[in-house]
Amino acid sequence: MNKFVILIGIFFSAALAANDKLLIENITIVSSHLSAPNTNMNVLLNNGRIEQITSQKITDYDAKIDGVDKFLAPGLMDSHVHVSSVPGMGFGVEPLAVKHPQIVAAYYEQQPKSFLYYGVTQVLDPNPGLNSKHFTNAANHPDYFRCEVITSKDTFPYVEKTDSLSQSMYRYLVDEAAAANKPDSAESLVQQIASSGASCIKLYFEDGYGDANQWQLLSSATLKRIKVEADKHNLLIVAHANAFDMQQLALAAGVDVIAHGMWNWGQFRRHRDVPAEIAATLDVIIDEQVGYMPTQRVIAGLGEVMLPTTASSPQFLAVTPAPLLDWYQTPQAQWFKEELRIGFDGMADNAIAEIFLYGRIGKGNKVIQYLNHANHPILLASDFPGSPSYANQPGLTTFQEMKAMANAGLSPAQVLAAATINNAKQFKMDADYGTVQVGKKANLLVLERNPLASVEAWDSIETVILNGKPIARQVLVAGNEKSLN
Ligand SMILES: [Zn+2]
Repeated sequence: MNKFVILIGIFFSAALAANDKLLIENITIVSSHLSAPNTNMNVLLNNGRIEQITSQKITDYDAKIDGVDKFLAPGLMDSHVHVSSVPGMGFGVEPLAVKHPQIVAAYYEQQPKSFLYYGVTQVLDPNPGLNSKHFTNAANHPDYFRCEVITSKDTFPYVEKTDSLSQSMYRYLVDEAAAANKPDSAESLVQQIASSGASCIKLYFEDGYGDANQWQLLSSATLKRIKVEADKHNLLIVAHANAFDMQQLALAAGVDVIAHGMWNWGQFRRHRDVPAEIAATLDVIIDEQVGYMPTQRVIAGLGEVMLPTTASSPQFLAVTPAPLLDWYQTPQAQWFKEELRIGFDGMADNAIAEIFLYGRIGKGNKVIQYLNHANHPILLASDFPGSPSYANQPGLTTFQEMKAMANAGLSPAQVLAAATINNAKQFKMDADYGTVQVGKKANLLVLERNPLASVEAWDSIETVILNGKPIARQVLVAGNEKSLN
């Protein structure tokens, strides 16, 4: 590790002014718009943007990073994270979090740093709840984008919430019978969401977990009204749907993005390969260019919470603050594990883990492979934390989702695209993000290893550049002694 570069990171993250020019000298650029890495380049950042990229020497700058033997990549975008959630506690307004305000405060303080530690410089939160201010008020945080949820009192997720605090997270409750000019009509809610500055609308297609089907869905008439109005306001529709039949309904409603992998194959569960009926649905995703978020970490998090070593890996310790680590050791924090044990009828923990880590993840992998084979762009989206499991931690889960994509068969170049340009294009942010090109926002990563050689290189970040400002990765580590050995 080069001491000089660390110094620059620590020093200038405080001292570099917005209009100071930062030069990254003699670096290899890795970016999806290039057919091969571009070596020995000089990159000048100014006013939070990339001002110049050249092989010629640049002499006018205020601070410099030596890029020899290093790689410059775009900052990553995770397009499915819930910043209000405390892993293991649920959303920040739910009862467990309310009981532990100091742990929650320590966690919220660390959370944006943990995303940055793993190179995540943009996040999209499809369901911000009430507590996203802690994130956007932090001194350094990934650029924050959000959807807002439209649901009703009779549909998921509102229907599942039993306390008024949790229910209050859902502010756009539609009255399906209301005429268009009424304040709780589909049309008026879409208008309110558009004027709130959100990037998208999230709709839930969930009639019950697993094979259950006890919840009703929004009617197709309401879905149509939402879609027509959303188109008028240029708002994308992101759909929660993970079962085969629910994804079919989402596609029929004309959604733009499916926010989960299709792990649940319904009546085709016994098939090992994608059956014709599921292939026909995936062909609709391909033909209509619907965005696809595999969110394999949701399932992995359910399996890993049953394993004894999950909360003690060096990577876990680097992103999780001490008070939360301590709480994970308490009996109270085991509540979700106990729920899974009961759900699986007292099966051994390892066996429960395997059901998720091999069985269900395998189904998601087959779907990724089918779409990838058709060159359908895959989106990096972890759905952090994905469930009440504490196995998924901010930033680390994004990195693990990238590894899951590689495991499913994506090449390092396809993982790079999924994490950068695919998300930027899908959410119409490619004028600002997604590649290392002049004019784009200077959210960048300096890496020690080449991410086109191995997905593991994404864990070799040396400096995160956020809005043109360098931050040494070391200063983003969670404040706990355990993480330092
Ligand atoms: Zn989610």
